[in-house]
Amino acid sequence: WSSETIAVVTGCNRGIGFEISRQLAVHGLTVILTSRDSNVGLEAARVLQEGALNVLFHQLDVLDPLSIKQFSEWLQQNYGGLDILVNNAGVNFNLGSDNSVEYAQRVVATNYFGTKNMIQAMIPLMKPSTAGARIVNVSSRLGRLNGRRNRLEDVTLRQQLSDIDSLSEELIDGTVSTFVQQVEDGTWTSGGWPQTFTDYSVSKLAVNAYTRLMAKVLSNRLEGHKIYINCYCPGWVKTAMTGYAGNISAEDGADTGVWLALLPDQAVTGKFFAERREINF
Ligand code: NDP
Repeated sequence: WSSETIAVVTGCNRGIGFEISRQLAVHGLTVILTSRDSNVGLEAARVLQEGALNVLFHQLDVLDPLSIKQFSEWLQQNYGGLDILVNNAGVNFNLGSDNSVEYAQRVVATNYFGTKNMIQAMIPLMKPSTAGARIVNVSSRLGRLNGRRNRLEDVTLRQQLSDIDSLSEELIDGTVSTFVQQVEDGTWTSGGWPQTFTDYSVSKLAVNAYTRLMAKVLSNRLEGHKIYINCYCPGWVKTAMTGYAGNISAEDGADTGVWLALLPDQAVTGKFFAERREINF
């Protein structure tokens, strides 16, 4: 990896995204630090630039098609594309078993559709290389299908989402749409959804499923044009999202994401990690 290696990170004005940007830049990469708010994003980039790191800022709201388009054009014109994409931007308002309609819509839109928007926009811009381009999705153990606690109780859906042969974009999009519809209708409690952090868990469950699906879709790319995609759980991290109540620092929460982005083993794709180890979906 060198300063010729271009890494794009979403939602980096604070928290884990800021730390991922910092650590990738410490490894010598050129990092495009993005944020939906230009003022706070520029300030975050300035802090890293003052540490002599190769970090540039560009505005990017993962929910705004125009923002994504402008960012993509700028990236193409100035850097000819990218080598690494880290989808970190996310929201969570859910502190219990309650799902408000507004929060469910925003959480699913940002965490799942925002991630998907960026993957679709960036794939055509990913540079050919022998090491393979990389996509890392910051996800959560709360989105595990088969975890002991907080799992998806709808057994049929769990089986469909677990089986790579039945996994499809329609199934994943349909799953999150059905969830949001049930929140809107007030019927979600009997829908077999995870019991706590429900909207957040559904959004991350969809991110995980989409990671596996895209690994399969991307697997037939020619040598020299490979793209490897994985997701990871950062742990319970002291950031604004947890009200700084986590048990590890943002620096530690960033670690597995940076490790995955720079992993020398090219064959790793479509997997879920935590603390630098593979875990079950
Ligand atoms: P923060 O709330 O500190 O950071 C979230 C970042 O996402 C902010 O920079 C925020 O920007 C940005 N963001 C939100 N919406 C958008 C958008 N539409 N476009 C661009 N950026 C956006 O939380 P964390 O650092 O903790 O979270 C980072 C990731 O880690 C998330 O995906 C989260 O789900 C995941 N995660 C976190 C855990 C934890 O314990 N903290 C545990 C498991 C997963 P703004 O400042 O403008 O709101």
